[in-house]
Amino acid sequence: MPCYIEPTKDGGTMFLCGKLGPHCAAEKCASVSGYLCDFPVAEGRTCDLPLCERHAYQVAPDLHYCPGHLVLWKAFREAGGVERELGNVVPFPARTGKPENGELF
Ligand SMILES: [Zn+2]
Ligand SMILES: [Zn+2]
Repeated sequence: MPCYIEPTKDGGTMFLCGKLGPHCAAEKCASVSGYLCDFPVAEGRTCDLPLCERHAYQVAPDLHYCPGHLVLWKAFREAGGVERELGNVVPFPARTGKPENGELF
């Protein structure tokens, strides 16, 4: 029977044994997982790492990321990735002729 280690509010730990599903996948964590990482890893697929309450980082309502993917997500967002993806349209056609010098008309 698998056993789990759950932190208690007073800073101690509590053992839980039973068929409670996979352990949290975060490093050095042996808690019961109640969440799955929702980070998209491929078309129609998500990371799906099992995560406990403390390691499932909520990035949007009902959307949780594992610690590793949270770092990726933050870097992506800070680099302006969200806007860039939304603005990912057809590039401007290459201009021909004289370069513009600010004088349009
Ligand atoms: Zn955990
Ligand atoms: Zn993940």
